[in-house]
Amino acid sequence: MAERANLKSSFSSTVNQRSDELERIARDILDHPESGYREVRTSKLVADWFRDAGLEVQTGIAKTGVIGTLDTGKPGPHISVMGELDSLIVPGHAHADSDTGAAHACGHHAQIGSMLTVAAGLSEASVKDGLVGKISFMATPAEEYIELEYRESLHEKGEIEFFGGKQEFIKLGFFNDVDIAMLTHTGGETEGTFGIGGSNNGMIGKTVQYIGKAAHAGGSPHLGVNALSAAHLGLAAIHAQRETFRDADTVRVHPIITKGGAAVNSVPADVRIETYVRASNVPAILNTSEKVDRAFRAGAFATGAEVRITTNPGYLPAKYDEKLTEIYRHNAASLIGDDNVIRLNHSSGCTDMGDVSQIVPTIQPTANATSGNGHGIDYLVKNYDLAVIKAGKAMGMTVIDLLADNGEKGKKLSGAFKTPMSISEYLSRMRGFRSDATYSE
Ligand SMILES: [Zn+2]
Ligand SMILES: [Zn+2]
Repeated sequence: MAERANLKSSFSSTVNQRSDELERIARDILDHPESGYREVRTSKLVADWFRDAGLEVQTGIAKTGVIGTLDTGKPGPHISVMGELDSLIVPGHAHADSDTGAAHACGHHAQIGSMLTVAAGLSEASVKDGLVGKISFMATPAEEYIELEYRESLHEKGEIEFFGGKQEFIKLGFFNDVDIAMLTHTGGETEGTFGIGGSNNGMIGKTVQYIGKAAHAGGSPHLGVNALSAAHLGLAAIHAQRETFRDADTVRVHPIITKGGAAVNSVPADVRIETYVRASNVPAILNTSEKVDRAFRAGAFATGAEVRITTNPGYLPAKYDEKLTEIYRHNAASLIGDDNVIRLNHSSGCTDMGDVSQIVPTIQPTANATSGNGHGIDYLVKNYDLAVIKAGKAMGMTVIDLLADNGEKGKKLSGAFKTPMSISEYLSRMRGFRSDATYSE
């Protein structure tokens, strides 16, 4: 026990010495946002940092992912500490890229900072020597499930299979021998606290293309088939079914039109929609997916257009491990006090941490250090000490608990975990969500 306390104290003092540098990296990433599977600069920055820290580095995983491994050289549990590389696309955000609209409106830049904080503190020889097993610091691409047509094109080219970076890591075998996983997300609930526990919705993603017939919009609309009208009816038909979504399933369906027509004086012949179908459980996702498809088909049938509906696997619902949460809670409380560690409720948002949580014991606590609306133009990390340094300390101290004393706690925790599904079951389940069909009357 005394040994563990010493390790935590050496870990913390190393982190304190490097805190300015670690916060600076997070701010640097904030100012250079890159959306999913395009995180070239961010990926290089992380890989270079890992190399400087003396970690074994693998790059180009799932296009832009990076892993830095800290191996104690002694057998023991394998822990994954993660950070997400990608930004959102939110034009108008104070730190948005003026060309692409990419912006860190979900705080992932701070996650990279907190992951590197763990790596900085644990790499210190006096800490590393007291641990067993290994830690993989995984900088994962593409958590935000966006730009679906771009990801479909990557899928068609065989560059990725899944739209989420952690899913690709799982498919590529990087979780095959991982025992425990963690990542800290930023949050805005009750500033100055850490949030623990909770759960997330799962989802599937759809791209929808209405194909009509172009004609002169003023002179001869009767010769055309209006794909925008078809899309309008499809969307209205989804809305007409919302009362059938059960509250308990926390269903969310929120389509956007990504292309509404080509020129205002031509009847729209190619209209495109992206949507999610989210719910707290897979049966509700599938049931709602059928309703959504039926609605989209109805728009095409009514107008004589064609509709192509492509469904892609999204993310599984997340369930965070209670035993790991308890170890984390203790460490988080030692940093900011018991009263400032709060329980999270179910979130109707989704994450590919959900997929990880179906395979290994996982936590995704939140560092509540932000202001503004998540995914909005005003979302900003206000408290970098909490989001980067203390978040990293709470995770690092949790890793010390798991890997000190010959890794006893880590072994016990991973041994007690009842895996909802094996990795091969996971992959076949995810592949089963994919479909692509074109409908006309
Ligand atoms: Zn997000
Ligand atoms: Zn996020």
